[in-house]
Amino acid sequence: MCGIVGYSGKKAAAEIIMKGLSKLEYRGYDSAGIAVCLDGQTKIFKTKGRLSALQELLDKNGAPEGCVGIGHTRWATHGEPSDRNSHPHGYGRVTLVHNGIIENYLHLRQSAETKGAKFVSDTDTEAAAYVIDSCYDGDPVKAISKALPQLHGSYAFGIIFSDKTDTIYAVRRDSPLIAAQGDGECFIASDIPAILSYTRDYYLMDTDEIAELKDGKIRFFDLSGNEITNGKKLLHADFDIEAAEKGGYPHFMLKEIYEQPDTLRRLISMHTEDGAGNIFKSEIPDTSDIKRIFVVGCGSAMHAGLLGKYSIEHLCRIHVSVSIASEFRYDDPMVGPGDTVFIISQSGETADSLAALRLSHEKGAKVCAIVNVVGSSIAREADEVIYTRCGPEIAVATTKAFTAQVLIMYLLTARLAYDRKTVTEEFLKNYLSDMAKLPELAAEVLTDKYVQLYKKFAAYNKPHGDYYIIGRGQDYATGCEGAMKIKEISYMHCESYAAGELKHGTISLVTPGVPCMAIITDPDIAEKTVSNVKEVRARGGHVVLVSSCTGENADICDEYIKLPQTNKYLMPIVAIIPVQTYAYYTAVLRGCDVDKPRNLAKSVTVE
Ligand code: GLU
Repeated sequence: MCGIVGYSGKKAAAEIIMKGLSKLEYRGYDSAGIAVCLDGQTKIFKTKGRLSALQELLDKNGAPEGCVGIGHTRWATHGEPSDRNSHPHGYGRVTLVHNGIIENYLHLRQSAETKGAKFVSDTDTEAAAYVIDSCYDGDPVKAISKALPQLHGSYAFGIIFSDKTDTIYAVRRDSPLIAAQGDGECFIASDIPAILSYTRDYYLMDTDEIAELKDGKIRFFDLSGNEITNGKKLLHADFDIEAAEKGGYPHFMLKEIYEQPDTLRRLISMHTEDGAGNIFKSEIPDTSDIKRIFVVGCGSAMHAGLLGKYSIEHLCRIHVSVSIASEFRYDDPMVGPGDTVFIISQSGETADSLAALRLSHEKGAKVCAIVNVVGSSIAREADEVIYTRCGPEIAVATTKAFTAQVLIMYLLTARLAYDRKTVTEEFLKNYLSDMAKLPELAAEVLTDKYVQLYKKFAAYNKPHGDYYIIGRGQDYATGCEGAMKIKEISYMHCESYAAGELKHGTISLVTPGVPCMAIITDPDIAEKTVSNVKEVRARGGHVVLVSSCTGENADICDEYIKLPQTNKYLMPIVAIIPVQTYAYYTAVLRGCDVDKPRNLAKSVTVE
């Protein structure tokens, strides 16, 4: 997830592009770069680091002159953040910036290399530049149309051809891009804030529709090269810049909650195309040497580990220990050669998790990192890395990175179960096809019908100070994550309990009216949890039931959120999204600063 800006007009492009990129830095800040054209020449400046580093480079060398150009602020997905991997990338007659992931880039690069191609970066993007260049015979629209079917994955491209330096071409699939019309000038951008200082009039670009920006005008073409003259609607942005950065959502947290169907879809399609046996094959070539698994993380990452333990132990019959990183590092853990330690961290910089990684290495274990930020310390020091690839997460309370971590655990489960033959082929086939439908279920629980319920039920919490969540097995782990959400953003004291454990002490805190939640997604033990819910209600507890496998029953609960059902081992992803959203509305109704909760920071780089 990066930011793209392009300009074609009569003013100095570099300045306009830099200003536009500054509004998109929330989309990534691993590196930045621009390409500007003058007298048939394209000059590229790019550097690792934030946009300020690029600005320093331009100040030192003088900004390139010219009225046509493209720019990029990167959130690395393939290849560490470095000067070499920064965009724009060039190949032959093509210079381009890219947002997205070219999933078949390895295949494209390898087959290009056999024909003598030489690549200078580690990115997937450079393979796309190569493919477009190899399709180019002087007609840009034709070249792009011919290249696109060869590129699998997601993309928004801004492209310049070396013999047409007065023009920008743009195209998108599954990554956002708008084309904006100003007075005698035009723009492309990943998001509206980038162009708001110049114009408010823009076109949404449809999938695989090619835009040509030249002489202050925008033309659109379909993949057959026909100009699209009907049906393009010029839209007018009437919101302020800050609201626009959040895509119109009042908080980044809500925006990130709603991004989950997409982030899940992207990860699933990336890894499951070739069946369970190939999941993570390039990251973890051989699972046969995995004897014992340790999962280490802090906060939500540790909860993702708990959910992973549940599915791996049940479906792969391998022992899994889950530890809090700050405990693991001082616990003289019984880990050593032959063990595999999975370190989960969104930022890849979590101090305790990094220390746990180093300790695991000292003790001779193999370490596999599950991180979101490419090139982060944990990613660099681990033996293997699996990226969650869900784009920058800005809100302190994690949502989309958490569900991506859990999904990685479920993908890992499929791979281990396949390698060890611990489930039948048929089970695995159904598990993967149910997994492919998870994004739809995630979208379903975010439809208005559901969201109205979350809001309504959250209103009950406003005057209360304590909250209890119960569940068994994986529902207990989902409850731990739910309790974390409620605590961190709404400042209610909230605890998650294994449902059978409540009566061993905590039930003394349940008095009339105390808000509680029960999560029930496992039909095999649903009745047991229902009994515990009844115990809570008998003491006056006010229970919201989040369930896929119990009927609505006034006897059981006060409020009911009926979840769509899928394979029970995948249900936690479906269950946590309503709880995240409910926690969000609880915090909003209690007047809390949702994106920046007190005393917390996003990337915990201290012990
Ligand atoms: N996949 C490209 C890269 O790693 C683009 C990343 C992005 O969209 O941020 O450079």
